[in-house]
Amino acid sequence: MDQPSVITIDGPAGAGKSTLGALLAARLGYLYFDTGVMYRAFTLAALRADLDLDDEAALAGLAQRISISVRPPDVADGRQYTVLLDTEDVTLAIRSPEVEQHVSRAARFPQVRREMVARQQAIGRDGRVVMVGRDIGTVVMPEAPLKIFLGASIDERARRRLAERAATDLDHVRDALTRRDELDRHVMLPADDALLFNTNDLTPEQEVDWIMAYIQHKERSFHA
Ligand code: C5P
Repeated sequence: MDQPSVITIDGPAGAGKSTLGALLAARLGYLYFDTGVMYRAFTLAALRADLDLDDEAALAGLAQRISISVRPPDVADGRQYTVLLDTEDVTLAIRSPEVEQHVSRAARFPQVRREMVARQQAIGRDGRVVMVGRDIGTVVMPEAPLKIFLGASIDERARRRLAERAATDLDHVRDALTRRDELDRHVMLPADDALLFNTNDLTPEQEVDWIMAYIQHKERSFHA
C-alpha cells in the first residue's frame, strides 16, 4: 500500500488524539509524535525558572535555550514515550496539575510557537510520522496528505479524562477542559481539507479501522 508520509491529528483535549495517534502509528509502522509534550515540557521549564507567563520575550528566550527530546519508552509504567527536558526525564512531571493549568497560557505567544513549530517541522520532514496536536494540519504540516480533526462532546471528553487521571470530580475536570478549550481556540482549527471525526460513539479501534480503509481506498492520490 502506498501510504501518506505524514498524518496529522488535531483536536481538543480529551478527544482521543493520543490513543488514535499511537494506534495508527503502530499499524503503519510510523513514528508517533505528540506535540503537546513539547508545550508541556516548555511550561514546566518556565514554571521552574519562575518566569512571568505574560513575558513573551523571556518565554521565547527560554524556548530557544531548552532541549526537549522524545524517545521510545525506557520505563515500563504504561508510558507511550519518554520525554527529556535537557537530560532530565520529565515524562510524569509534565502531566502535573500545575503544568496542565498553565500550559495554554505559556503556549499562546507567537515567538514561542515559532520555535516549537520549527522543531516539529524538522521531525515531520523525515516523514513516516503521525503527528498529534492542535495546529499540525493548519500550521506545522499544512502539506500533509492526510489530516484528521477529532471532536467529542465536552461531557464525553470530561468522562474520559476523569477515567484516565483517576480524578473524582467530573465538574472540576469539565471546567478545566472548557477553560483550556477557550485558551486554545485561536490555534485549534481544522484544516479545510481535514477529515472531521466525532469520536463520541466510536472506539479507537473503529476509528483506526476506518482510517486504514480510507487510506487503502485513496492510495493512488497519496503519491508524492
Ligand atoms: O495535547 P495536550 O493536552 O497535551 O496539550 C497541552 C497544551 O499544549 C494544549 O492545551 C495547548 O495549549 C498546547 N498545544 C498547542 N499546540 C499543539 C499542541 C499543544 O498549543 N500543537
